[in-house]
Amino acid sequence: MRARLQQTVLATKPGREAETILRSCVHCGFCNATCPTYQLLGDERDGPRGRIYQIKSLLEGLPVTTETATHLDRCLTCRACETTCPSGVQYGRLIDYARPLIEDAVPRAPRDRFQRWLLRKLVPSRAFAPLLAAGRAVRALLPRAVRDQVPKARAAGDWPSARHATRWLAFDGCVQQAARPSINAAAARVFDRAGLSLVRVQGAGCCGALAHHLGAHAEALECARRNIDAWAAALAGGAAGIFCASSGCSAMLKDYGRLLADDPVYAGRAEHIAAHVRDATEFGAELRLAGAVGVRVAVQAPCSLQHGLRGTGRLEAALTAAGCDVFTPADAHLCCGSAGSYSLLQPALAGALRTRKLEQLAVGAPAVIASANIGCLLHLEAASDIPVRHWLEIVDHLQSTRGAPAHFD
Ligand code: SF4
Ligand code: SF4
Repeated sequence: MRARLQQTVLATKPGREAETILRSCVHCGFCNATCPTYQLLGDERDGPRGRIYQIKSLLEGLPVTTETATHLDRCLTCRACETTCPSGVQYGRLIDYARPLIEDAVPRAPRDRFQRWLLRKLVPSRAFAPLLAAGRAVRALLPRAVRDQVPKARAAGDWPSARHATRWLAFDGCVQQAARPSINAAAARVFDRAGLSLVRVQGAGCCGALAHHLGAHAEALECARRNIDAWAAALAGGAAGIFCASSGCSAMLKDYGRLLADDPVYAGRAEHIAAHVRDATEFGAELRLAGAVGVRVAVQAPCSLQHGLRGTGRLEAALTAAGCDVFTPADAHLCCGSAGSYSLLQPALAGALRTRKLEQLAVGAPAVIASANIGCLLHLEAASDIPVRHWLEIVDHLQSTRGAPAHFD
Protein backbone atom coordinates (compact mmCIF):
# COMPACT_ATOMS: atom_id res chain seq x y z
CA MET A 1 0.00 0.00 0.00
CA ARG A 2 1.37 3.43 -0.92
CA ALA A 3 1.63 5.82 2.02
CA ARG A 4 2.86 9.40 2.33
CA LEU A 5 3.03 9.82 6.04
CA GLN A 6 3.59 13.15 7.75
CA GLN A 7 7.17 14.09 8.62
CA THR A 8 6.22 14.26 12.29
CA VAL A 9 5.24 10.58 12.06
CA LEU A 10 8.38 9.56 10.14
CA ALA A 11 10.58 11.40 12.65
CA THR A 12 9.89 8.74 15.28
CA LYS A 13 10.88 5.07 15.41
CA PRO A 14 7.30 3.82 16.05
CA GLY A 15 6.12 6.08 13.21
CA ARG A 16 8.62 4.53 10.81
CA GLU A 17 7.53 1.08 11.96
CA ALA A 18 3.91 2.07 11.23
CA GLU A 19 4.96 3.10 7.72
CA THR A 20 6.62 -0.28 7.14
CA ILE A 21 3.49 -2.06 8.34
CA LEU A 22 1.25 0.04 6.11
CA ARG A 23 3.45 -0.62 3.09
CA SER A 24 3.32 -4.38 3.70
CA CYS A 25 -0.47 -4.45 3.23
CA VAL A 26 -1.38 -5.40 -0.34
CA HIS A 27 -5.07 -4.59 0.17
CA CYS A 28 -6.20 -8.12 -0.70
CA GLY A 29 -8.96 -8.22 1.95
CA PHE A 30 -8.38 -11.84 3.01
CA CYS A 31 -8.33 -10.60 6.61
CA ASN A 32 -11.94 -9.42 6.45
CA ALA A 33 -13.08 -13.05 6.35
CA THR A 34 -11.87 -13.70 9.91
CA CYS A 35 -12.64 -10.32 11.46
CA PRO A 36 -15.45 -10.62 14.04
CA THR A 37 -16.66 -7.04 13.65
CA TYR A 38 -16.69 -7.25 9.86
CA GLN A 39 -18.70 -10.46 10.15
CA LEU A 40 -21.21 -8.80 12.48
CA LEU A 41 -21.50 -5.40 10.79
CA GLY A 42 -20.60 -6.10 7.15
CA ASP A 43 -19.07 -2.64 6.77
CA GLU A 44 -15.63 -2.35 5.13
CA ARG A 45 -14.72 0.33 7.68
CA ASP A 46 -15.30 -2.22 10.47
CA GLY A 47 -12.86 -4.74 9.00
CA PRO A 48 -9.05 -4.77 9.17
CA ARG A 49 -8.47 -3.59 5.60
CA GLY A 50 -10.76 -0.60 6.11
CA ARG A 51 -9.23 0.19 9.49
CA ILE A 52 -5.73 0.08 8.02
CA TYR A 53 -6.87 2.54 5.39
CA GLN A 54 -8.36 4.83 8.04
CA ILE A 55 -5.15 4.70 10.07
CA LYS A 56 -3.17 5.54 6.94
CA SER A 57 -5.35 8.61 6.40
CA LEU A 58 -4.78 9.67 9.99
CA LEU A 59 -0.99 9.31 9.64
CA GLU A 60 -1.03 11.17 6.33
CA GLY A 61 -2.63 14.11 8.08
CA LEU A 62 -5.99 13.87 6.32
CA PRO A 63 -9.04 15.01 8.29
CA VAL A 64 -10.41 12.39 10.67
CA THR A 65 -13.87 12.43 12.18
CA THR A 66 -15.74 10.86 15.06
CA GLU A 67 -16.80 8.21 12.53
CA THR A 68 -13.16 7.15 12.12
CA ALA A 69 -12.79 6.95 15.89
CA THR A 70 -15.96 4.86 16.11
CA HIS A 71 -14.76 2.31 13.55
CA LEU A 72 -11.37 2.03 15.27
CA ASP A 73 -13.02 1.79 18.71
CA ARG A 74 -15.03 -1.18 17.48
CA CYS A 75 -11.83 -3.14 16.81
CA LEU A 76 -11.35 -5.81 19.47
CA THR A 77 -7.57 -5.95 18.92
CA CYS A 78 -8.14 -9.71 18.74
CA ARG A 79 -5.51 -9.97 15.96
CA ALA A 80 -7.35 -12.70 14.08
CA CYS A 81 -6.56 -10.61 10.99
CA GLU A 82 -2.82 -11.02 11.67
CA THR A 83 -3.10 -14.79 11.71
CA THR A 84 -5.02 -14.70 8.43
CA CYS A 85 -2.93 -12.13 6.57
CA PRO A 86 -0.71 -13.73 3.90
CA SER A 87 1.58 -10.67 3.86
CA GLY A 88 2.40 -10.71 7.56
CA VAL A 89 0.85 -7.30 8.30
CA GLN A 90 1.32 -6.57 12.00
CA TYR A 91 -2.06 -4.99 12.47
CA GLY A 92 -1.94 -5.12 16.30
CA ARG A 93 1.16 -2.91 16.42
CA LEU A 94 -0.36 -0.52 13.91
CA ILE A 95 -3.57 0.06 15.85
CA ASP A 96 -1.66 0.27 19.13
CA TYR A 97 0.41 3.05 17.58
CA ALA A 98 -2.66 4.82 16.19
CA ARG A 99 -4.81 4.74 19.32
CA PRO A 100 -3.22 7.66 21.22
CA LEU A 101 -3.09 9.68 17.98
CA ILE A 102 -6.79 9.22 17.34
CA GLU A 103 -7.48 10.24 20.97
CA ASP A 104 -5.68 13.53 20.25
CA ALA A 105 -7.24 14.05 16.83
CA VAL A 106 -10.83 13.35 17.89
CA PRO A 107 -11.34 14.28 21.54
CA ARG A 108 -13.88 12.10 23.31
CA ALA A 109 -17.01 13.26 25.07
CA PRO A 110 -16.37 13.91 28.79
CA ARG A 111 -18.46 10.88 29.87
CA ASP A 112 -16.51 8.57 27.56
CA ARG A 113 -13.19 10.02 28.76
CA PHE A 114 -14.21 9.55 32.38
CA GLN A 115 -15.29 5.93 31.81
CA ARG A 116 -11.92 5.09 30.26
CA TRP A 117 -10.00 6.95 32.95
CA LEU A 118 -11.96 5.13 35.65
CA LEU A 119 -11.24 1.73 34.09
CA ARG A 120 -7.52 2.46 33.88
CA LYS A 121 -7.30 3.74 37.44
CA LEU A 122 -9.72 1.47 39.25
CA VAL A 123 -9.16 -2.02 37.84
CA PRO A 124 -5.40 -2.21 38.57
CA SER A 125 -5.79 -0.52 41.97
CA ARG A 126 -6.01 -2.04 45.44
CA ALA A 127 -9.57 -0.72 45.70
CA PHE A 128 -10.80 -3.11 43.00
CA ALA A 129 -10.94 -6.30 45.10
CA PRO A 130 -12.84 -4.69 48.02
CA LEU A 131 -15.21 -3.09 45.53
CA LEU A 132 -15.94 -6.48 43.96
CA ALA A 133 -16.52 -7.94 47.42
CA ALA A 134 -18.98 -5.14 48.20
CA GLY A 135 -20.71 -5.75 44.86
CA ARG A 136 -21.05 -9.46 45.67
CA ALA A 137 -22.60 -8.64 49.04
CA VAL A 138 -25.44 -6.73 47.35
CA ARG A 139 -25.41 -8.70 44.09
CA ALA A 140 -29.06 -9.71 44.23
CA LEU A 141 -30.12 -6.07 44.54
CA LEU A 142 -28.12 -4.83 41.57
CA PRO A 143 -29.65 -4.15 38.15
CA ARG A 144 -28.92 -6.97 35.66
CA ALA A 145 -26.37 -4.98 33.64
CA VAL A 146 -24.31 -4.20 36.75
CA ARG A 147 -24.80 -7.66 38.28
CA ASP A 148 -23.26 -9.25 35.19
CA GLN A 149 -20.07 -7.33 35.87
CA VAL A 150 -19.74 -8.73 39.39
CA PRO A 151 -18.26 -12.22 39.19
CA LYS A 152 -19.22 -14.85 41.73
CA ALA A 153 -16.72 -15.63 44.49
CA ARG A 154 -14.88 -18.92 44.34
CA ALA A 155 -12.86 -20.29 47.26
CA ALA A 156 -9.15 -20.31 46.44
CA GLY A 157 -8.22 -23.28 48.64
CA ASP A 158 -4.73 -24.02 49.96
CA TRP A 159 -1.54 -22.68 48.44
CA PRO A 160 1.19 -25.31 48.98
CA SER A 161 4.42 -24.26 50.69
CA ALA A 162 7.49 -23.71 48.50
CA ARG A 163 9.00 -27.14 49.16
CA HIS A 164 10.51 -27.87 45.74
CA ALA A 165 13.92 -26.80 44.44
CA THR A 166 12.48 -25.40 41.21
CA ARG A 167 10.50 -22.25 41.94
CA TRP A 168 8.40 -20.20 39.55
CA LEU A 169 7.14 -16.71 40.33
CA ALA A 170 3.36 -16.42 40.11
CA PHE A 171 2.05 -13.44 38.19
CA ASP A 172 -1.05 -12.34 40.10
CA GLY A 173 -2.26 -9.65 37.74
CA CYS A 174 -5.07 -7.29 38.69
CA VAL A 175 -8.43 -8.65 37.49
CA GLN A 176 -7.45 -12.28 37.96
CA GLN A 177 -6.28 -11.84 41.55
CA ALA A 178 -9.24 -9.66 42.52
CA ALA A 179 -11.96 -11.67 40.78
CA ARG A 180 -10.71 -15.25 40.76
CA PRO A 181 -7.76 -15.90 43.13
CA SER A 182 -8.70 -19.58 42.83
CA ILE A 183 -6.88 -19.74 39.47
CA ASN A 184 -3.35 -19.18 40.72
CA ALA A 185 -4.05 -21.28 43.85
CA ALA A 186 -5.17 -24.15 41.61
CA ALA A 187 -2.05 -23.64 39.48
CA ALA A 188 0.12 -23.76 42.62
CA ARG A 189 -1.39 -27.16 43.56
CA VAL A 190 -0.92 -28.54 40.03
CA PHE A 191 2.69 -27.29 40.12
CA ASP A 192 3.25 -28.83 43.54
CA ARG A 193 2.06 -32.26 42.37
CA ALA A 194 4.47 -31.96 39.44
CA GLY A 195 7.45 -31.24 41.71
CA LEU A 196 7.52 -27.49 41.08
CA SER A 197 6.78 -24.63 43.46
CA LEU A 198 4.83 -21.53 42.57
CA VAL A 199 5.66 -18.56 44.79
CA ARG A 200 4.19 -15.09 45.05
CA VAL A 201 6.21 -11.88 44.88
CA GLN A 202 5.30 -8.63 46.57
CA GLY A 203 5.22 -5.47 44.48
CA ALA A 204 4.08 -6.81 41.12
CA GLY A 205 0.65 -5.91 39.74
CA CYS A 206 -1.24 -5.19 36.54
CA CYS A 207 0.73 -6.12 33.41
CA GLY A 208 -0.29 -2.83 31.76
CA ALA A 209 -2.36 -4.32 28.94
CA LEU A 210 -5.54 -2.54 30.01
CA ALA A 211 -3.93 0.92 29.78
CA HIS A 212 -1.98 -0.02 26.65
CA HIS A 213 -5.07 -1.04 24.69
CA LEU A 214 -6.85 2.12 25.81
CA GLY A 215 -4.05 4.17 24.27
CA ALA A 216 -2.46 5.21 27.61
CA HIS A 217 1.02 3.98 26.74
CA ALA A 218 2.93 5.89 29.42
CA GLU A 219 0.75 4.34 32.14
CA ALA A 220 1.28 0.88 30.65
CA LEU A 221 5.05 1.35 30.72
CA GLU A 222 4.89 2.39 34.38
CA CYS A 223 3.18 -0.95 35.12
CA ALA A 224 5.95 -2.72 33.20
CA ARG A 225 8.75 -0.96 35.10
CA ARG A 226 7.13 -1.73 38.46
CA ASN A 227 6.81 -5.43 37.60
CA ILE A 228 10.37 -5.59 36.31
CA ASP A 229 11.64 -4.11 39.59
CA ALA A 230 9.52 -6.57 41.59
CA TRP A 231 10.78 -9.67 39.75
CA ALA A 232 14.42 -8.82 39.10
CA ALA A 233 15.74 -9.82 42.55
CA ALA A 234 13.74 -13.06 42.67
CA LEU A 235 15.03 -14.08 39.26
CA ALA A 236 18.60 -13.25 40.28
CA GLY A 237 17.98 -15.38 43.38
CA GLY A 238 17.39 -18.49 41.29
CA ALA A 239 13.69 -18.50 40.37
CA ALA A 240 13.15 -20.37 37.11
CA GLY A 241 10.91 -17.72 35.58
CA ILE A 242 7.58 -15.96 35.73
CA PHE A 243 4.44 -18.06 35.40
CA CYS A 244 1.35 -16.41 33.93
CA ALA A 245 -2.04 -18.13 33.87
CA SER A 246 -3.77 -15.48 31.77
CA SER A 247 -2.86 -15.49 28.09
CA GLY A 248 -3.73 -11.81 27.60
CA CYS A 249 -1.29 -10.83 30.34
CA SER A 250 1.32 -13.29 29.03
CA ALA A 251 1.24 -11.59 25.63
CA MET A 252 1.81 -8.21 27.27
CA LEU A 253 4.57 -9.42 29.62
CA LYS A 254 6.41 -11.08 26.74
CA ASP A 255 6.31 -7.75 24.89
CA TYR A 256 8.09 -5.75 27.64
CA GLY A 257 11.43 -5.96 25.83
CA ARG A 258 10.05 -4.36 22.67
CA LEU A 259 7.95 -1.80 24.51
CA LEU A 260 10.89 -0.59 26.61
CA ALA A 261 13.56 -1.01 23.93
CA ASP A 262 14.32 2.74 23.95
CA ASP A 263 14.34 3.15 27.72
CA PRO A 264 17.97 3.81 28.71
CA VAL A 265 17.48 2.32 32.17
CA TYR A 266 15.03 -0.50 31.60
CA ALA A 267 15.69 -1.79 28.06
CA GLY A 268 18.05 -4.62 29.07
CA ARG A 269 16.10 -5.55 32.19
CA ALA A 270 12.82 -5.60 30.25
CA GLU A 271 14.27 -7.96 27.67
CA HIS A 272 15.61 -10.22 30.42
CA ILE A 273 12.26 -10.36 32.23
CA ALA A 274 10.28 -10.89 29.02
CA ALA A 275 12.51 -13.83 28.09
CA HIS A 276 11.65 -15.48 31.43
CA VAL A 277 7.86 -15.20 31.11
CA ARG A 278 6.05 -18.45 30.40
CA ASP A 279 2.35 -18.78 29.73
CA ALA A 280 0.58 -21.65 31.52
CA THR A 281 -0.10 -23.38 28.20
CA GLU A 282 3.64 -23.49 27.41
CA PHE A 283 4.56 -25.88 30.23
CA GLY A 284 3.47 -29.06 28.50
CA ALA A 285 4.85 -32.30 29.97
CA GLU A 286 6.56 -30.46 32.85
CA LEU A 287 3.19 -30.21 34.62
CA ARG A 288 2.71 -33.99 34.50
CA LEU A 289 -0.91 -33.59 33.56
CA ALA A 290 -1.53 -37.17 32.46
CA GLY A 291 -3.73 -39.52 34.41
CA ALA A 292 -6.69 -37.41 35.51
CA VAL A 293 -10.23 -38.74 35.23
CA GLY A 294 -11.87 -37.73 31.96
CA VAL A 295 -14.58 -35.12 31.59
CA ARG A 296 -16.18 -33.50 28.54
CA VAL A 297 -14.62 -30.05 28.17
CA ALA A 298 -15.43 -27.44 25.52
CA VAL A 299 -12.42 -25.24 24.80
CA GLN A 300 -12.57 -21.47 24.40
CA ALA A 301 -9.11 -20.64 23.11
CA PRO A 302 -8.57 -16.90 23.80
CA CYS A 303 -7.44 -14.64 20.94
CA SER A 304 -4.42 -13.64 22.99
CA LEU A 305 -3.39 -17.30 23.06
CA GLN A 306 -4.13 -18.03 19.40
CA HIS A 307 -3.13 -14.80 17.70
CA GLY A 308 -1.01 -13.02 20.32
CA LEU A 309 1.09 -15.94 21.57
CA ARG A 310 0.71 -18.02 18.39
CA GLY A 311 -0.43 -20.90 20.59
CA THR A 312 -3.31 -22.36 18.62
CA GLY A 313 -3.95 -25.92 19.81
CA ARG A 314 -1.89 -25.67 23.00
CA LEU A 315 -4.88 -25.42 25.34
CA GLU A 316 -6.59 -28.36 23.64
CA ALA A 317 -3.35 -30.38 23.87
CA ALA A 318 -2.92 -29.64 27.59
CA LEU A 319 -6.48 -30.69 28.42
CA THR A 320 -6.20 -33.81 26.29
CA ALA A 321 -2.97 -34.67 28.10
CA ALA A 322 -4.88 -34.26 31.37
CA GLY A 323 -7.33 -36.94 30.27
CA CYS A 324 -10.20 -34.65 29.23
CA ASP A 325 -12.55 -35.37 26.37
CA VAL A 326 -11.96 -32.13 24.47
CA PHE A 327 -14.52 -30.45 22.23
CA THR A 328 -13.30 -27.69 19.89
CA PRO A 329 -16.20 -25.48 18.72
CA ALA A 330 -16.78 -24.18 15.21
CA ASP A 331 -15.17 -20.79 14.48
CA ALA A 332 -12.75 -21.36 17.37
CA HIS A 333 -10.52 -18.60 15.95
CA LEU A 334 -13.19 -15.93 16.54
CA CYS A 335 -13.22 -13.64 19.57
CA CYS A 336 -15.76 -14.18 22.38
CA GLY A 337 -16.19 -10.41 22.72
CA SER A 338 -14.31 -9.95 25.99
CA ALA A 339 -11.14 -8.28 24.66
CA GLY A 340 -10.01 -6.57 27.87
CA SER A 341 -12.28 -3.61 28.57
CA TYR A 342 -14.10 -4.02 25.24
CA SER A 343 -17.05 -5.83 26.82
CA LEU A 344 -17.67 -2.76 28.98
CA LEU A 345 -17.06 -0.16 26.29
CA GLN A 346 -18.86 -1.94 23.41
CA PRO A 347 -21.50 -4.03 25.20
CA ALA A 348 -23.75 -4.64 22.19
CA LEU A 349 -21.02 -6.06 19.95
CA ALA A 350 -19.41 -7.92 22.85
CA GLY A 351 -22.78 -9.43 23.78
CA ALA A 352 -23.47 -10.58 20.22
CA LEU A 353 -20.06 -12.25 19.98
CA ARG A 354 -20.54 -13.90 23.37
CA THR A 355 -23.96 -15.30 22.43
CA ARG A 356 -22.51 -16.83 19.29
CA LYS A 357 -19.50 -18.25 21.13
CA LEU A 358 -21.63 -19.81 23.88
CA GLU A 359 -23.98 -21.38 21.32
CA GLN A 360 -21.02 -22.92 19.51
CA LEU A 361 -19.47 -24.17 22.76
CA ALA A 362 -22.77 -25.72 23.89
CA VAL A 363 -22.95 -27.88 20.73
CA GLY A 364 -20.40 -30.23 22.31
CA ALA A 365 -22.66 -30.80 25.38
CA PRO A 366 -19.72 -30.20 27.74
CA ALA A 367 -19.73 -30.54 31.52
CA VAL A 368 -17.55 -27.45 31.67
CA ILE A 369 -16.07 -24.76 29.39
CA ALA A 370 -12.32 -24.17 29.71
CA SER A 371 -10.58 -20.86 29.08
CA ALA A 372 -6.99 -19.67 29.46
CA ASN A 373 -7.66 -16.00 30.06
CA ILE A 374 -9.45 -14.33 32.96
CA GLY A 375 -11.25 -11.70 30.86
CA CYS A 376 -12.80 -14.29 28.53
CA LEU A 377 -13.67 -16.53 31.47
CA LEU A 378 -15.60 -13.83 33.34
CA HIS A 379 -17.27 -12.51 30.18
CA LEU A 380 -18.54 -15.97 29.19
CA GLU A 381 -19.44 -17.01 32.72
CA ALA A 382 -21.75 -14.00 33.14
CA ALA A 383 -24.11 -15.38 30.48
CA SER A 384 -23.44 -19.12 30.52
CA ASP A 385 -25.63 -21.94 31.81
CA ILE A 386 -22.60 -24.21 31.56
CA PRO A 387 -19.86 -23.74 34.21
CA VAL A 388 -16.81 -21.87 32.92
CA ARG A 389 -13.37 -22.42 34.50
CA HIS A 390 -9.73 -21.72 33.91
CA TRP A 391 -8.22 -24.90 32.49
CA LEU A 392 -5.85 -25.27 35.45
CA GLU A 393 -8.84 -25.15 37.83
CA ILE A 394 -10.28 -28.08 35.86
CA VAL A 395 -7.02 -30.01 36.00
CA ASP A 396 -6.66 -29.32 39.74
CA HIS A 397 -10.23 -30.45 40.32
CA LEU A 398 -9.70 -33.67 38.36
CA GLN A 399 -6.40 -34.42 40.06
CA SER A 400 -7.79 -33.84 43.55
CA THR A 401 -10.98 -35.86 43.01
CA ARG A 402 -9.33 -38.68 41.09
CA GLY A 403 -11.76 -41.54 40.70
CA ALA A 404 -14.85 -39.54 41.63
CA PRO A 405 -17.32 -38.22 39.03
CA ALA A 406 -16.31 -34.70 38.01
CA HIS A 407 -18.78 -32.04 39.09
CA PHE A 408 -18.56 -28.32 38.38
CA ASP A 409 -21.16 -26.07 39.97
S1 SF4 B 1 -4.94 -9.76 4.48
FE1 SF4 B 1 -3.11 -8.56 5.01
S2 SF4 B 1 -2.41 -7.70 3.08
FE2 SF4 B 1 -4.53 -8.37 2.75
S3 SF4 B 1 -5.77 -6.51 3.21
FE3 SF4 B 1 -5.64 -7.70 5.11
S4 SF4 B 1 -3.86 -6.82 6.18
FE4 SF4 B 1 -3.72 -6.15 4.03
S1 SF4 C 1 -7.96 -7.05 15.48
FE1 SF4 C 1 -9.80 -8.34 15.34
S2 SF4 C 1 -11.55 -6.89 15.33
FE2 SF4 C 1 -9.67 -5.70 14.91
S3 SF4 C 1 -9.55 -5.60 12.69
FE3 SF4 C 1 -8.32 -7.39 13.31
S4 SF4 C 1 -9.72 -9.14 13.24
FE4 SF4 C 1 -10.98 -7.26 13.18
